[in-house]
Amino acid sequence: MSKNNEMTNKRIGIIGAGPSGLAQIRAFEALEAKGYAMPEIVCFEKQDNWGGMWNYSWRTGVGKYGEPIHGSMYKYLWSNGPKECLEFSDYSFDEHFGKPISSYPPRPVLFDYIQGRIKKSKAREFIRFNTTARWVSYDEDSKKFTVVLDDLKINKTYSEEFDYLVVASGHFSTPNMPYFKGIENFPGTVMHAHDFRGADQFKGQNLLLIGSSYSAEDIGVQCYKHGAESVTLSYRSNPIGVEWPEGIKEVPLVTHFEDDTAFFKNGTQEKFDAVIMCTGYQHKFPFLPDEMRLKTKNNLYPDNLYKGIFFNELPQLIYLGMQDQYYTFNMFDAQAWVARDYMMGMLELPSENERRVDMDKWLERNDNLENGDDEVDFQTDYIKDLISMSDYPPFNLDEVARMFKEWLKDKEDNILTYRDKTFKSAVTGTMAAEHHTEWMDELDDSKERYLYEPEEEELIPENL
Ligand code: FAD
Ligand code: NAP
Ligand code: MG
Repeated sequence: MSKNNEMTNKRIGIIGAGPSGLAQIRAFEALEAKGYAMPEIVCFEKQDNWGGMWNYSWRTGVGKYGEPIHGSMYKYLWSNGPKECLEFSDYSFDEHFGKPISSYPPRPVLFDYIQGRIKKSKAREFIRFNTTARWVSYDEDSKKFTVVLDDLKINKTYSEEFDYLVVASGHFSTPNMPYFKGIENFPGTVMHAHDFRGADQFKGQNLLLIGSSYSAEDIGVQCYKHGAESVTLSYRSNPIGVEWPEGIKEVPLVTHFEDDTAFFKNGTQEKFDAVIMCTGYQHKFPFLPDEMRLKTKNNLYPDNLYKGIFFNELPQLIYLGMQDQYYTFNMFDAQAWVARDYMMGMLELPSENERRVDMDKWLERNDNLENGDDEVDFQTDYIKDLISMSDYPPFNLDEVARMFKEWLKDKEDNILTYRDKTFKSAVTGTMAAEHHTEWMDELDDSKERYLYEPEEEELIPENL
């Protein structure tokens, strides 16, 4: 017996089947399991598989059908935060892997985990792969969204109407690519982190990385690990500021290039073989008209989203995962559960003005954050707020915040070994296993190698 039959004629459109879009599908399925009638859900994904960023693409530039490549991940990418900080509270690592694993798994292992809970459901039936959302319009009279779609495989354009639209298209895909005078004459490789696919091609080279956030840090360390001759990181505002091993250093911002020589603000100069712009990404929504578009840079509380999800002027337009991220998968879940309850008519939103007041409160606090610990506390409180609004299974967020702070400190202590540390799950209480090989010596990021000790290779199931 369903509890709310009026929902069955509502239609919900979701753009993107990455961790955020999949969280939205999961949220509806969790409610359906409790006997509620489901609205019709259609998720559009331009790639041929789900997983978003975690669905590795060896391609750069454009894909098979000429669409911009979404993926920014690369070979040998390992989680850069403890997995205990992103664990789904309704689907633990223990449940998925059946044994404790280390705290910093490589990409293929996390990709496997993301798929785990969704593979057990009928989620795939809701997703139209190889389908790009091209344009969205909203009709004030009918209160419906029209979404124009391209079925890439058969090269056909069509449109559909929805009562609610969930934008889960990610925001780490469209490069922010600054110009530096003379770079057009640089003789070596110049690329953005978005197009970086692994360190192999940079063996033996002297590299210049511009930027001082996660991409600069991780691509720098990876190139060092996999045999680059030297890595120089050039910062605009603040250096990363950890103690670097010999072979990696930080310098102030590039002022200009002359051939293969870069000049820096502190008056120094140096020759390089390649330049990698680790200069972040743009929130880019080419399928949305200007008045529905979220306009923000990468920060913990993009303005104009009530509870970080509802577009204030038009709350039927919902954005997931648009904030800068300490928390990831469990935050997307917490958002998706709240969004679901609103779409199901189970959660009423306050007036537009009251929403404005609430957002301003968060924005003001965001403006006054002073360090990483403050940022962790901010996002922790944000998620607590969300969880208080829905039935997403609560988990010990204070414990997760503590782990994030320990992680920040571990990185400062030693940027090359922090991934060898282990943490205890806030969901199951299980202590992580130590990986069989120290991270700096582990050059293979495959799931097979990760899950089985080298001497256990004969134990690998054939269907893995
Ligand atoms: P995405 O994963 O970006 O997925 C968005 C989906 O929308 C994609 O599948 C895309 O194809 C689709 N899409 C976009 N536009 C359209 C359209 N017009 N029509 C149809 N479909 C569309 N997080 C961690 O927790 N740990 C990590 O170690 C980590 N490493 C990262 C490394 C890199 C290099 C990057 C860039 C990010 C990393 N992240 C990491 C953060 C990562 O962004 C999140 O983990 C997560 O992937 C965000 O999920 P999402 O669904 O919001 O967006
Ligand atoms: P980001 O965190 O938004 O940082 C952008 C960086 O670019 C900042 O240091 C910024 O400097 C700099 N920058 C921007 N414009 C510049 C300019 N004109 N000149 C010089 N510097 C400029 O982006 P990101 O580092 O690409 O990280 C994006 C996401 O990817 C994060 O969620 C991260 O966790 C994830 N990631 C994860 C891994 C992993 O190991 N798993 C690896 C890479 C990335 P200012 O400080 O001056 O603004
Ligand atoms: Mg930052």
